[in-house]
Amino acid sequence: MATPARFTGTVLTPGDARFEDASRTWNACYASRPREVMVCDSTQAVVDALRSVRERDLPFRVRSGGHSMAGLSSLEDGVIIDLGGLDSITLSEDGSLVTVGGGAHLGDLYRVLWKAGVTIPAGTCPRIGIGGHVLGGGMGMLSRSRGALVDHLVGLELVGADGRVRHVDEGEHPDLFWACRGGGGGSYGIATSYTLRTSPIGDVTIFTIGWDWGRFAPAVKAWQSWLAATDDRVNTFLSLFPREQDLLVAFGVFDGPAAEFEELVRPLLAAAEPQTQVIEVVPFIQAVDTVEALQGEAAVADQVRAQGSSAIIGEPLDDEAIATLQEFLTDPPSHRAEVAVYGMGGVIGHRSRTETAFVHRTGLMAFEYRTDWDLPENDAENLAWVKALRHAMAEHTTGAAYVNTIDLALENWLWAYYEENLPRLIEVKRRYDPGNVFHHPHSIPVSLTEQDIARHGIPETVAAELRSAGLLS
Ligand SMILES: Cc1cc2nc3c(=O)[nH]c(=O)nc-3n(C[C@H](O)[C@H](O)[C@H](O)COP(=O)(O)OP(=O)(O)OC[C@H]3O[C@@H](n4cnc5c(N)ncnc54)[C@H](O)[C@@H]3O)c2cc1C
Repeated sequence: MATPARFTGTVLTPGDARFEDASRTWNACYASRPREVMVCDSTQAVVDALRSVRERDLPFRVRSGGHSMAGLSSLEDGVIIDLGGLDSITLSEDGSLVTVGGGAHLGDLYRVLWKAGVTIPAGTCPRIGIGGHVLGGGMGMLSRSRGALVDHLVGLELVGADGRVRHVDEGEHPDLFWACRGGGGGSYGIATSYTLRTSPIGDVTIFTIGWDWGRFAPAVKAWQSWLAATDDRVNTFLSLFPREQDLLVAFGVFDGPAAEFEELVRPLLAAAEPQTQVIEVVPFIQAVDTVEALQGEAAVADQVRAQGSSAIIGEPLDDEAIATLQEFLTDPPSHRAEVAVYGMGGVIGHRSRTETAFVHRTGLMAFEYRTDWDLPENDAENLAWVKALRHAMAEHTTGAAYVNTIDLALENWLWAYYEENLPRLIEVKRRYDPGNVFHHPHSIPVSLTEQDIARHGIPETVAAELRSAGLLS
């Protein structure tokens, strides 16, 4: 079947030299072979690509950076609408706003902004695409000190299911704007650009504090208590590695001067004396590189076999929960397994849970149970490890999960990702995409059934709300 003549982008099919690269997803476990990649370089090309797949009645997926944990930006025998050519980054004259193409990579954005002395609070991995990252909420480098990435989104351009290009912001389509701030990628349309508010940045204080495995419980306890009480300007993460690596690392970025941080960090160091500690003042862009290097090989690889799952934790873990983490990390199937903990709270919590679709305003920590490995024959044991760890820890979590760490093994994903924001997300979906043109296994549905209510563990109060709003089929 021919693509329409009006499509001005590039169509790649198997056999084209660029096809293999263009169709590769970051996670090889969920690799699929599309029939065609439509590389778009303008909003009009996106409109035409969407019209083309609909006229030809072909299944499709939208792709920006290809870093979906579950490979949801590709599809076996489907079409990828790839925003790779939409990667412009344009700063306003005073540098306070940046408009970035839906296909840009986070690292490129960090670098352009750095040259202007500004930044946005976003993820720790510069290789991820802005396209998917923004829509899920965006947490990372400066979230405690400056908020979630969506809190800095002032508007976006979205190609909708009806093929219309909409400018979406607080004044125009405010309900859609609300949904695009945390509702996840691939549900409401194709975001061709985002406009984000920047804020000034210069030097920051970075820190790396290490303990050996023998200090597992004291280090976790000390870090989480410190996190719960410390200054909002402390952005911190905790990496728990397998026993054979003999290492636990707290690291992060203090959004302020080193002298102040040295005071602020005292309670942590006193509660669990570390083996190593480095505190230094560096230009923010160097902090981006340092934090990327701490993410391990998977973060910089073009493709890996990987699995991840997330959980939101509301209060410091008790001894039993810490012992569970330690047990799972004693002898995991891959030596690259990790429990990566994002410190939450701070400015993230300055907004209410319903102000945007990003609901996780009251969490203390976001856990990512993750692992990567080399060989397909090790898939089953690694997938099982993540699932078993998530189940074992479930009683110690709030039950919520972060949609940017999308996990197809999560049974109750609709509730876990969105909690009380779910009814409004479904209403917005019905209004803007009643035919469910944009869908994938974890996209927002247009309606639910009573079986869905039970399967996703949706509480009766919210189920009643869904029923009275006519959102059940
Ligand atoms: C190594 C690694 C590190 C990460 N680090 C962080 C982190 O520090 N903080 C954090 O918050 N998250 C992090 N993530 C998660 C990341 O934010 C999500 O995986 C995000 O969806 C990636 O976006 P992408 O554009 O690269 O992915 P893609 O695979 O291209 O897309 C992901 C999803 O969004 C949809 N989508 C993509 N572009 C668009 C668009 N323009 N319009 C509409 N829908 C679109 C896709 O259809 C798909 O469903 C990390 C992921 C990885 C793999």
